[in-house]
Amino acid sequence: MKVLSVDGRVCVDCGDGPVDVATASNGRFGSDPQAVYERWSEFRGWAEELDPIWAEQLDPTAARLRSGAALGSPVPRPRQVLAVGFNYVDHSAELDAEPPEKPLVFPKLSSCVGGPADVVELPGEHIDWEVELVAVIGRHARNVAADAGWRYVAGVTVGQDLTDRAAQFDGPTPQFSLSKSRPGFGLIGPWLTTVDELDDPDDLAISCLLNGEVVQQARTSSLVFGVGELVARISAQVPLLPGDLIFTGTPGGVGYGRTPPRYLTEDDVLVSRIEGVGELTTRFERPMGGHV
Ligand code: ZN
Repeated sequence: MKVLSVDGRVCVDCGDGPVDVATASNGRFGSDPQAVYERWSEFRGWAEELDPIWAEQLDPTAARLRSGAALGSPVPRPRQVLAVGFNYVDHSAELDAEPPEKPLVFPKLSSCVGGPADVVELPGEHIDWEVELVAVIGRHARNVAADAGWRYVAGVTVGQDLTDRAAQFDGPTPQFSLSKSRPGFGLIGPWLTTVDELDDPDDLAISCLLNGEVVQQARTSSLVFGVGELVARISAQVPLLPGDLIFTGTPGGVGYGRTPPRYLTEDDVLVSRIEGVGELTTRFERPMGGHV
């Protein structure tokens, strides 16, 4: 099933069309998309029993979607957003780095999270793309074994870990968190897809297109540390909380790794795509008055 945010209200699509959760549950679950992750297994159980009649006859959400209502981030306010650097070998190579022996994990500040309808402000001339598989945590996780890691994941979504390369490399060592935490630099969507919908959640085609040109293309089976391993390694250090995000790293083909480097402009259209999960289309603008 898919979990969507339509005009800020959580909806679920079990294959018959989106259903407004607060309406169909008669208030048992509220309208806030963030809240369903706190009660994920109860929510899953309710949604699986949902009568498809809600999608066909009683729910206005499908009509709203057809009329172009805004899809928001399926996880609007995660408490923690973790990201992983150098997690594909070809991306490490293009940045002249060795693949790490342990995951390189850093926080993205949660105020950077945005959704599919957002137009992202470009705060400079060195803003780069990074398509990533994003795992959404569905259960409190602490000291989880790698082979149990996926059981703590509510679902996955498509992510863009946008990065200000000038800020990242402005200093004696790379500055990950701030350079990747501007407003809109943690885009996810267009919805959350539950893990059971994926034939093999560890082997998904992932790609990024800039104005129609394929700039990144890989399979998640080539992640150095897969989702289960990341849940294990991170939860050995800190608790993972329901609704947290893990950006799992980007494959090769970022703008910084090109010769000459290529960065995003307000004329660009960026499409981020993951097989069986969805596609995120992103547009950009310059801030009014030239600064943010
Ligand atoms: Zn990244």
